Amino acid sequence: MLPEWKMGACLHLMSSGPHDYFIVILFPLFIGITFWIQRQPQFDGKRYFVMANWSVTAWLLSVALELFSVEPHCKILAGTLAYPGIGLLPASWFLFVYRYTQHETGPILPWQWCVLIGVPAFATLIAITNPLHQLFYGPGTAPVSSVPGSPVNYVHGPLFYLLAATLYAFILASLALLGNAVRQSAGIARMLYVLLIAMTVLPTFGNIGYIVFGLNIAGFDPTPFLFSFLLLAYAALISLNNFFQVSSIAKDMVFDTLPNAVIVVRRDGQLVAHNREAERIFGPGARTLPVGGQVAELDPLMQRVTAPEPVTGPTEMMIGEREFEVSSTPLTQTIRAGRQIVIGYAFVFFEVTAYRQIERELAHALSTTDARLGELALQNRRISDEVRTDPLTGLLNRRSLSDAFTAMSRTEEDTIFAVLIDIDHFKKINDRLGHGVGDQVLAAFGIGLKRAFRSEDKLYRLGGEEFLALLPNIGLQELHGRIAGLRLEIGQMGSQFLPADMDLQFSAGIAVMPTDSHDLAELLDLADKRLYSAKNRGRNRTVGPLAEKRV
Ligand code: GH3
Ligand code: MG
Ligand code: MG
Repeated sequence: MLPEWKMGACLHLMSSGPHDYFIVILFPLFIGITFWIQRQPQFDGKRYFVMANWSVTAWLLSVALELFSVEPHCKILAGTLAYPGIGLLPASWFLFVYRYTQHETGPILPWQWCVLIGVPAFATLIAITNPLHQLFYGPGTAPVSSVPGSPVNYVHGPLFYLLAATLYAFILASLALLGNAVRQSAGIARMLYVLLIAMTVLPTFGNIGYIVFGLNIAGFDPTPFLFSFLLLAYAALISLNNFFQVSSIAKDMVFDTLPNAVIVVRRDGQLVAHNREAERIFGPGARTLPVGGQVAELDPLMQRVTAPEPVTGPTEMMIGEREFEVSSTPLTQTIRAGRQIVIGYAFVFFEVTAYRQIERELAHALSTTDARLGELALQNRRISDEVRTDPLTGLLNRRSLSDAFTAMSRTEEDTIFAVLIDIDHFKKINDRLGHGVGDQVLAAFGIGLKRAFRSEDKLYRLGGEEFLALLPNIGLQELHGRIAGLRLEIGQMGSQFLPADMDLQFSAGIAVMPTDSHDLAELLDLADKRLYSAKNRGRNRTVGPLAEKRV
């Protein structure tokens, strides 16, 4: 097609010096890295980042071809083949930077297609048509010496500078986007943008040095070499920190803004990472946490997790005046299928100072309330006992009569005997011996009643010298036996308190539930009538439902 392109002769390649082998090594290394980056987790604009890699690879390939070509026109042909890559590099780099800084993830937009195809096409077109117009490489383009394989000295024409200006427009646009992103970001994200600026600027400097000052590597533009080295460095950064991953940046930010202190140590306790809150807790004042060093406060935690029988689960810990609940998580790494090793530990500190304080105050308040409640209950029982008890005899009084009767008469089968007792001629005792002796007699009568009846029987002083005994489930015979016992007891007491011509005796009336009535008032009424009858019949006797008993 074009007279200058004599392709066939160019298949003859030879090495022009040791630096050729440098590129031979660089080339596969670079391809390998590009494949590796492709396999990395997704980041915005990743496709264009990889594309920039491929364009550098293509550029390097043409450089290698030019190096190994012998004939000058072959070298120029190889150099021309670099232009698809040279055009694609700033275009794809710009698109990567655009998508990365704008966080654009959707399908490629029409204007992006135009850039991606138009720029390399334009570069290739003006380079490949040079034999027609000679405006790209000037007529003075020729090998530097007559030695076979010696490098070609390119004389750049106006179209070369037009292309350079076009490509620089994309470089400057990338720098503008990155500069803006640096301004608006912080932390690790910002550092990443600064690194991307360096990656854009350094090869550009190399390229400007080449165009303006003739700076070269073995006669070649240093741009692809610089770029490839920076990509290498960047690949290392990606592998170390997964910098590109949004999730990784997010994790770092969350890590630092977490309200809980987090400290990560290696298996030997050496500090690997900590967040800002940890710095605040452990490094108050001038002290900062020594990354790579040990923190004495962590020793007890390390002892727990590294013990032969590691203790997991949260533990409590004081740091200064503050109390923390610390959770320990072993960090494991899979070394072989199914085999994991612990490579370190993450300690998370939850501050519980306020909770514990409240807990202590609550416990204190509860214990005092408990004690107070206990006291009140006791007092209450005392008062209610007092209310239900007759102070002179210690027997029950009328107040608890109804409740006790209800409790006793729960079942139909139950029988309850109500024995109403009245001391005979008590007025005489009072009159002759005084009220004090009367009281003593009453108290003694109470003791007599308690002795004569059973523990389950309820004994009341209803008023004056009148008493009541409620006896559940007792046989009639036993009842009369116990009343007889009471008479005996009372009689003996009387002989102690009273002059020889006076006897202490009583009359009694008995009514029984259910035979007489189910109702307490009716029973008492009947018992009272029988008591009255006993008095009438001469006192010192018992009148019951079945028989009158005279002792
Ligand atoms: P009767 O055989 O008919 O029952 O004759 P009585 O004298 O026992 O009966 P009465 O009801 O006439 O007298 C009861 C007396 O008991 C009158 C009262 O002064 C006295 N009395 C009432 N309560 C008390 C008390 O708490 N202490 C003393 N010492 N005497 C009391
Ligand atoms: Mg009496
Ligand atoms: Mg009386």
